[in-house]
Parts: sequence; structure tokens; C-alpha cells
Amino acid sequence: MRKANNMSTSYLEEPPLPELRLPARLARQGQPWWNPQLSFSPPTARYRRPEPQIAAAAVERRWPSRVIENAPLWCSVDLRDGNQALPNPMDPTRKSKLFALLVAMGFKEIEVGYPSASATDFDFVRQLVERDLIPDDVTISVFTPARAELIDRTFESLAGVRNAIVHLCNATAPEWRKVVFALDEERITQLALDAAERVLRGADRMPSAAVRFEYSPEAFNLTEPEFALALCNAVAARWCATPDRPVTLNLPSTVEVDTPNVYADQIEWMHRNLDNRGSIILSVHPHNDRGTAVASAELAMMAGADRVEGTLFGNGERTGNVCLVTLALNLLTRGIDPQLDFSDIDGIRRVVEWCTQMPVHDRHPYSGNLVYTAFSGTHQDAIKKGFDALEQAALKAGTAPGEQPWRVPYLPIDPQDLGRSYEAVVRINSQSGKGGIAYVLKTVFRLELPRPLQAELSEAVQKISDARGQEVGPKLLWEVFAEEYLKTDDYLRVTDHSGHPDDGDDRVCVHVLYTVDGREIHGEGAGIDQLSAFKVAMAQCGIQIETADVITQAARAEECGEIAAYSRVVTERGATWGAGLADNIGDAVLRALTSSVNRALRGSRTF
Ligand SMILES: [Zn+2]
Repeated sequence: MRKANNMSTSYLEEPPLPELRLPARLARQGQPWWNPQLSFSPPTARYRRPEPQIAAAAVERRWPSRVIENAPLWCSVDLRDGNQALPNPMDPTRKSKLFALLVAMGFKEIEVGYPSASATDFDFVRQLVERDLIPDDVTISVFTPARAELIDRTFESLAGVRNAIVHLCNATAPEWRKVVFALDEERITQLALDAAERVLRGADRMPSAAVRFEYSPEAFNLTEPEFALALCNAVAARWCATPDRPVTLNLPSTVEVDTPNVYADQIEWMHRNLDNRGSIILSVHPHNDRGTAVASAELAMMAGADRVEGTLFGNGERTGNVCLVTLALNLLTRGIDPQLDFSDIDGIRRVVEWCTQMPVHDRHPYSGNLVYTAFSGTHQDAIKKGFDALEQAALKAGTAPGEQPWRVPYLPIDPQDLGRSYEAVVRINSQSGKGGIAYVLKTVFRLELPRPLQAELSEAVQKISDARGQEVGPKLLWEVFAEEYLKTDDYLRVTDHSGHPDDGDDRVCVHVLYTVDGREIHGEGAGIDQLSAFKVAMAQCGIQIETADVITQAARAEECGEIAAYSRVVTERGATWGAGLADNIGDAVLRALTSSVNRALRGSRTF
């Protein structure tokens, strides 16, 4: 999906350092001695904080102590706001696909276009209506500016629709009033009311459709609050808002210019001062210019917003709209039902990437490629322990791990709840440690190595990742493990063995071949089990085994056998660990013992 363009591959070639030539000046006055930063004289005088929009005296904020308890009414604007910001707007196939995705995810309000602006948008609305693609419980919304002929054209696009919202918008902020339209407040109000009237009459001509209304004062966050309030009240009154036919008042931060608390103050002030509040759906539409759209939306919900407009993965003009994936999953991680289906986050992402032709960032919350991946050894260790604790708790409670409360360090959400596997949770590079290696062997190969063996293996892996300067994927990890422990053509080989206590045999025979200094020595031993027979055979080869312990486990790994055995063998050269994999216990145990002895003969590091 990643397109090979200059943007995404520019980091492959080493660039020169940029020539930063602004003269460094003094630190600001009063800067503490421990902060030696200097000023590079940026053009601060050209910028200023926006005027406080609400008189300090009028701010009586309650939102800081509120807690979000429910999902808002979601409205996706992917097909309008999001689409109009794309370098290549979606073609009808892509629009249809995204619409189908939004419906499947559970969106009940979907803004589908700006039908008076383009034939594509007009035709798309017609297609949805004529092909009966809109489920009964889904309301489409169409966007229109406050101009008579554009409103009329918008209604034409809706002919035959069952449920629709006509979304009327006009510019109200002083900058727009003066610079863009040269209209005063009175004429802006008149324009909005005339348009509202025309919208009302348009809906009257469609008696068989349930048409509702939405009004957005454009750049609400930059508009004098008293003016925005008066306009909203006037428009809602003109539309005869009632609890049965509520009017949506949408208050966009069209361009995000302040910290999220300021937006929350503005929303709370509107929430408390709007007329007829029970007949109003208070909606927010945060943009992300300062990178805080998600925070703005959340604080606005605390401040009284009922509805949120945004897009999947935050597509939209400039820095985009608020990301509804992040917002909704932030709710889920607090135990609140987001009322949207994210059970296949990667599938959702692939469709959106294809429709918008834009990749989702590797670190995008909840959905990026790397967001459930830990490379750091300490993180991996904690995650491994978290998963182990979860398994234990599930075992104790007699439930599946997926039903236990989620408490895994560094992972705010269970990737499996979003359709992700655990395999990518831990990846190995030079920053990783034995916990990470153990995790990968367990999740990918279903092997649970004893701790000392993990430590040994992690040294071998560290050497490889340091030498290569790159990630050690599961395949390479397996090769390192196999090279270190599973070699069969080493100094010592078991050539034959027979009998097994589990099969009722009371005698086990083991034959070994030991190659040393170009000589081959045969050894043969018998005993009550593999271990004792092996010891005798080894003694015949001149290798005294002082003690040996063997652990066996079910391995369930297709490529390496049913049984895993791990052994710790002490010879005159010290203690060494070994591992053996086979389809039966006898083979696995003997392979592990052979592995231990071979590692001792090779002079491997001992524990
Ligand atoms: Zn917008």
C-alpha cells in the first residue's frame, strides 16, 4: 500500500544538515540558570494569541471535573470534508466503498457530499438514493452554503430520499466577514436566516422524506460568542426546533487556533446559553491545526457536546479533521462502548487507505503498524509478564484470557480486540532482551524456554542484531536458536535408541557416536530411562555426566515437533543447557541431552 514516492523514501539517502543561520541571541530575561536555551529571533511579533473569545467573567467552567460516560452521536464527514481535501478526490467506486464501510462500522449519520459543488457529489447522492443503498436507520447529510441556487440544487440531489440532514453553513467569524465577504453582522444574520428559510421550504416540498437540519457558523471558534449564540438561536427558531425534530447546531473549530480548554469553554458557554436546549443537538467539528483535535473533541464532550463530526484516521483539510478512530477507541479503553465496530482495525485501515490513497502513519494511535510493538527490552519483559499474569488469572477463573480485565503494561488495549494478532507485539533488535525473545518464541513457535536458556539465547541474538544493525525477525531468531541448540551433525550424535518407559518397557538402550580428533568412538548404554542409558553411553565415550535435569513440554509447533525438551547437563566442563524437539518424548529428551553435551564440547558459555 505504501507508494514509493519521494515523500516516503526520502530518508533512505543521507541528507546534509540544513543550514540554520539565524543568529542566536540571549536567553529570555529571567530564564533559570539550568535552562541554557537561546533565542533564534523567530518572527513572534507577527503572531498573537486570538482575542479571548469569552469574557473571563462569563466563564464558569464545569467541564474540567466532568467525566465522559457515553459515546457521542457520531457523524462521519469522510465523504465530504475528508474527500474535498484529497489531492485526488474519490471516484464513485471509492466513495461507494467508503460509504459501505461506514455503514458496516455502525455510523448512523454520514455526510455524503457537497452536491451543489460537483457533479461527482451530486451523482453520488443520486446513486445512493436510486440504488437504495441507505439503510433505514442511517441518515445521510448533505452540505450546502447559504446561497439560494445552491440550496435548491442540494434539494434536487435528495429527491426520493427517506432520511436526510441538510447541513447549512455560512461564514460568521470577523476575519471572514471583513476579508472574504465584506458583510457586517446584520447582513450575515439576514443571509443565514434567508438561507434557513429556503432550506425549510425545500424540506416542505418533500413531505414523504424525514428531513432534518444542521447549521454551522463557519469558524465558530473565531466568532464572537455572543454573535454565534444569537445566530444559532435565530436559525434554530426559524427551523422550529422541537425535541421530536431537533436541530443540529454544529460548532466547528474550522481552524484550530488555541489550546483545547479554550474550545471547551466556548462549547460549555453555548451549551448553557442556547435557547430551547432540549431541542438542539449540540455538535462539534474539530480540526487539527495544532495537533490537538482529539483533545478538543474530548473536552468539548465534557463541556456538553452531544455529537462529533470527524473522519477515520483524521483525513481532512490541511492537518485534517478529528480522528474518529482515536476518539472512539479512547472511549473503549476507558470501558465505554464506542458504538462503532473496530473488530478488524486493519481491514478498516486498508479500505480507507485505498479510498483516500493516503497511508496511515506507522504510529497512528490504535491503528498504525508499530503501535502494539515493543522493541525495548524492559518493555518486552514487562509485556511478557503481563501476558503471563493474564493467562494465570484466566486459568484460575476458568475463563479465556480474552475475558479477563486487560492489564498488560505498555499496551493500553488488547490488540486482539481490534483483530490484531500478538505476533507483532514484540519485535527484536539490538534494544531487546531475553523477555522479548521468550515472547516471540512463545507466540510464534509455542516454545517456552527456561530462563537461563533464554539468557543464553539472547546473547547470541544480541550479537547478530548488533553485527547486522537490523531487526531480528522470527525467521532469523529461529535460525539462531536452531544453529545454537538443534544442530544434528555435531561432535556427538545418537545413532539409535530403543525402548521407552512410557510404553511399558523397563529397559532403554541408547547408541551414540562421538567424533573427536578425527576418531569415531561408539558408546552404548542401557538403563531404566533415556537419561540413565545416555549417561552410561557417554561414560563409554569418556565423558562423565555428573548431574543432568530434563524438562519436557508439549510444543505444538508444526515445523519442530510435538514435544520440546530442555536439559541442563553438568560435566567436568561445567553446566550447559540444551534443547531438543521431536514428535515423541524419547527423541526429544535424547536430542536435548546431546545438545547440552555438544555445547559443552564446543566450549559454549555455561550457567
Ligand atoms: Zn471541516
